[in-house]
Amino acid sequence: MQLKGSDEDGFGIEIVLQQGDRKPPSCVHGPTLLFEKVCKGEEGRRFYACSACRDRKECPFFQWEDDKVSEARLLAREEENRSKMPPFTHQKFLALPLGRRFCQDCQLLLLPGEWEIHASHKMSQADDITEARLSRPSLMLKPLENKKSNAQYLFADRSCHFLLDTLAKLGYRKVLCVGTPRLHELIKLRNQEGKSDPMKSLLLDIDFRYAQFYGQDEFCHYNMFNHHFFGGEAASGVLRAFLGEEDGEKVIMVSDPPFGGLVKPLAHSFSQISETWRKLQTSEGSVVEMPIVWIFPYFFEPRILECFPSFTMLDYQVDYDNHPLYKHGKTGRKQSPVRLFTNLTPRDIVLPREEGYRYSIYTHQPDLRRHLWKHCSECQKCVKPSWRHCQSCARCALPDHPCGNSPGLEGCFNCGSLKHKRRACPLKDKRRTDNKRSKAKGGRNLPKQPMKSNSKRKSGAQRRANKLKKMTE
Ligand code: SAH
Ligand code: ZN
Ligand code: ZN
Repeated sequence: MQLKGSDEDGFGIEIVLQQGDRKPPSCVHGPTLLFEKVCKGEEGRRFYACSACRDRKECPFFQWEDDKVSEARLLAREEENRSKMPPFTHQKFLALPLGRRFCQDCQLLLLPGEWEIHASHKMSQADDITEARLSRPSLMLKPLENKKSNAQYLFADRSCHFLLDTLAKLGYRKVLCVGTPRLHELIKLRNQEGKSDPMKSLLLDIDFRYAQFYGQDEFCHYNMFNHHFFGGEAASGVLRAFLGEEDGEKVIMVSDPPFGGLVKPLAHSFSQISETWRKLQTSEGSVVEMPIVWIFPYFFEPRILECFPSFTMLDYQVDYDNHPLYKHGKTGRKQSPVRLFTNLTPRDIVLPREEGYRYSIYTHQPDLRRHLWKHCSECQKCVKPSWRHCQSCARCALPDHPCGNSPGLEGCFNCGSLKHKRRACPLKDKRRTDNKRSKAKGGRNLPKQPMKSNSKRKSGAQRRANKLKKMTE
């Protein structure tokens, strides 16, 4: 798969995909990424920071590219990284039918010998960890809540079933689950029911708590921002074995990365997985790209398509159980901004009528989405449809933006003006109403919802949605 380079925007920090073969230093999350702090008019300074965590509080690793690090310091760092590796063992209860308990404080399955250390913790009753509960780890484990990088949003049943049904109908019998523990879980559950053709599934996830529930051939502790297998060669070997063609089964990858994540490193890792897959293909000349479903908010469309031009964004809205904004609650469905991006043929994917998608066949004509983005040949990127190219600012902006030429400034993300930042944008409220209108149009395949009145005060959910959008835009 051809990966196209692009600038990852956000806060004047750009990501530099490794050049040459200089090895980046590692934090506890594996090799770090090289970033560049860019200020117009100055030469950018480069530094290494954690690939998985975007908040220094979560992972404090930081090193300027030109820092000299002593051998002793390197060794100490390696030792520290090792010591922070999780104590979890694979498939803990394989051979133990009795005396299973779960410590909620430590998120650990416990063998009888371990109860004592956890005596003062919140522990489940002895023996209440049944096979049935063990088969739903996503219900037992508390979803991770790190705000910036690693919040875990679990699929609502209907979205998960829709995904799995779709893949099964298309003939896939192997699913590589990258950051989709609930899909992995559902595949195993269905196999146990025995009503449908068995499917294989391999979960790659950074949440090592899952190791306790799965065997080594079912779960790998993996970082999708740097394609790092914490289990080394043995673990990447598990992936190769899974992707191989020996069993004659078609494989597809499904990933639902944290939304705060950087698109470029994700695309880079997915390309590497795809490349591994391609090398294992023996039947020459048939399929050239590994089938991928990448689940991400719609406003990342331009950036995803820049990396993967063959992808299409589908209309299907993915729902989550524990997402504060997008769950399907009593009050009716909140319109989820999360979509499927895929290199599958869109017309092969039948959107569920019962969920209100009006057309049961391919409805993803490009013009449906044109209201969201348009390409500007002068800026050489996609911009909001309401923006026009402004010659004096030499960039796209809203037609009535305060025109300004102050050099050295990153323009306002709302109207494009170089005079102020988005927070101080005089056109902020205008944009919001524009947005509403285009969203209403875009949701044309979805159940009709009465439009809320144009009240100034947004609901908490709406405000949070805007915040998430701002954060990730
Ligand atoms: N909707 C999915 C879960 C998505 S939440 C489901 O229901 O199955 C994002 C998932 O990505 C979580 O499981 C989280 O642990 C995982 N994740 C977050 N950062 C990661 C990283 N750097 N590498 C691999 N997995 C990661
Ligand atoms: Zn880290
Ligand atoms: Zn405990």
